[in-house]
Amino acid sequence: MTQQTLLGLDVAGLRERLGPGVPAYRARQLYGEMYRRNVAALDESTALPKELRQQYQLGHLDVEQRFDSVDGTTRYLLKLPSDGRTVETVVMPADDRHTICVSSQVGCPVNCQFCLTALMGLERNLTAGEIVGQVLHVCRAHSLDPRTQHCNIVMMGMGEPLLNLDNVLKATAILCDDNGVGFPQRRLTVSTSGIIPKIPELGAAEVRPTLAISLNASTEEQRRELMPITRKYHLADLLEVCKAYPLRRWEYLMFEYVLLKDVNDTDADARRVVRLLANLKAKVNLIALNPGPGIPYGTPTPERVDSFQKIVMKSIPCYLRRPRGLDIYAACGQLKKMQTQDLVTLQ
Ligand code: SAH
Ligand code: SF4
Repeated sequence: MTQQTLLGLDVAGLRERLGPGVPAYRARQLYGEMYRRNVAALDESTALPKELRQQYQLGHLDVEQRFDSVDGTTRYLLKLPSDGRTVETVVMPADDRHTICVSSQVGCPVNCQFCLTALMGLERNLTAGEIVGQVLHVCRAHSLDPRTQHCNIVMMGMGEPLLNLDNVLKATAILCDDNGVGFPQRRLTVSTSGIIPKIPELGAAEVRPTLAISLNASTEEQRRELMPITRKYHLADLLEVCKAYPLRRWEYLMFEYVLLKDVNDTDADARRVVRLLANLKAKVNLIALNPGPGIPYGTPTPERVDSFQKIVMKSIPCYLRRPRGLDIYAACGQLKKMQTQDLVTLQ
């Protein structure tokens, strides 16, 4: 008997998958078992009929490798059941919250010059089930309950989420459904390199993550060099589409800015960033470059970062994002299926 995977289907999808011979309430029951109860396998769902449990598989992701950082961060290499490819998922515990960083694609087609994932190119998009599956895995493995604990999801792992927006939104609907996984909508953030035509589409979605834009440069010319996608989607147009973005009352546009030593980290850059974002309800997250092999940039000194932050902060809320899991290649821009043997040679 062939087993079909179910992860990623909503109630309507499950009803269709089960077929007309199965009573409609079974789909709702199954949905609750998969997402709300987050069972590891259908065998655990003894309330469901045996034939149903035998006929279908959830399609959970298996752990291929797990790396634990000295700072408490864990990086998973998770295997996708359909073709055996792997993606990275990172969980970062803090005193009062957990942050789960999920991937949206295997690799990434956007060629940012400071990012290790870019070196992989794009292998394929993830399905909605594979995106939800990353979160379900982490919640099970770390005993997290998004209904009672403060848990955030950031779609900032491998890949460009807005090039896979349909699946990102399908996954978001399940993650934020109170009958589903149960994350409050505000706890989700999606980060984009600036795929302009997809931004209004995201804004139109009823349930959607907070939008973060990877700015990373203070002029068009500089951004073209660091993020060649700017040649297609110009910085000025990106800021225009941001201006028109339908923010919810509580929402800010988040701008991420990777600081590269002697490239985009001067006081003049900081002042230009302030001017670029002047008319937006914005917050800025600074990230000092996390270095990697093949990345031709350096990390600025803490003093330089501090000076940059002080200038921006005078006008716009501006935070410094501390790197997590640097020792296990789990930090921003470092996700590239780094294996244990590679780690040893790098150290
Ligand atoms: N593709 C999306 C989301 C994943 S990248 C995007 O680019 O927004 C998540 C963040 O990590 C982005 O803001 C990106 O600019 C940043 N980043 C990429 N490489 C980095 C590196 N080497 N050091 C620090 N941050 C990096
Ligand atoms: Fe892709 Fe984001 Fe890395 Fe750019 S920074 S290559 S968009 S993952």
